[in-house]
Amino acid sequence: MKKISQRKRIVVKVGTSTLTHSTGMINIRKLEHLVKVLSDLKNSGKEVLLVTSGAIGVGCGKLGINTRPCDTPSKQAVAAIGQCELMYFYDKKFAEYNHTVAQVLLTKDIVQDDIRKTNCQNTFVKLLSLGVIPIINENDTISVEEIEFGDNDTLSAVVATLVDADFLVILSDIDGLFDKNPSLYPDAKLIPKVNAIDDYIISLADGSGSKHGTGGMITKIHAAQIANSAKIDMAIINGKDPDILYDLFEDKEVGTLFLSNE
Ligand code: ADP
Repeated sequence: MKKISQRKRIVVKVGTSTLTHSTGMINIRKLEHLVKVLSDLKNSGKEVLLVTSGAIGVGCGKLGINTRPCDTPSKQAVAAIGQCELMYFYDKKFAEYNHTVAQVLLTKDIVQDDIRKTNCQNTFVKLLSLGVIPIINENDTISVEEIEFGDNDTLSAVVATLVDADFLVILSDIDGLFDKNPSLYPDAKLIPKVNAIDDYIISLADGSGSKHGTGGMITKIHAAQIANSAKIDMAIINGKDPDILYDLFEDKEVGTLFLSNE
């Protein structure tokens, strides 16, 4: 197996609970830190793609709404407001490290429609060849059930397969996959490595996610299935301190690795 430190093209997914405070407002310290680490990884020679959640959370924060709206027009409107704010932040902060970002908003029809898929792949290839960091999110404003990914864990795995990534990292609010839900069982143990995603592994994902996140552990395992079947290894690590990305790419044991065993 190629060492993780040797992987060049990496997709990093960051969830709402890592990006925002419980108020929904941007967690400036964490997000600035994440941008700094990703910029540094890029400087070290990696190609970086960032899949970011948070548009609805940030939109709610900006509007001072405490609970996420339930009806589709409100959700889509809030996402449009939040996406703008989120990209403004990323653009400004990555620019401080001399990196250019590009916004890519996707819906599921890119995997269903060959022409769209090819267009999307070509765009990614071009952006990466220009040295740009693509920042990807679901296109919430036009997403309806038939064309939505539904969660960014799945979206990040699809992006990883589209760009033929060398590695996928999911930054979560938890250290990795545990043998039971650690929010309920303090004695839960971290599983450092998963070599095959079987019924036992799937059964470990308990309930849905946090207040502002949407996926929970099951969508992360699902993402690992998509990535692994395309021979892409994946890790779930804790996003509370983005420096953990240095550890991961220095081959230190962190989080849970899902290995494709190619
Ligand atoms: P994020 O917003 O960071 O993407 P989520 O809240 O969607 O994260 O998913 C992570 C959550 O999944 C954990 O905080 C935990 O409450 C829950 N969870 C359920 N089962 C497990 C498990 N077996 N191991 C780890 N976390 C689990």
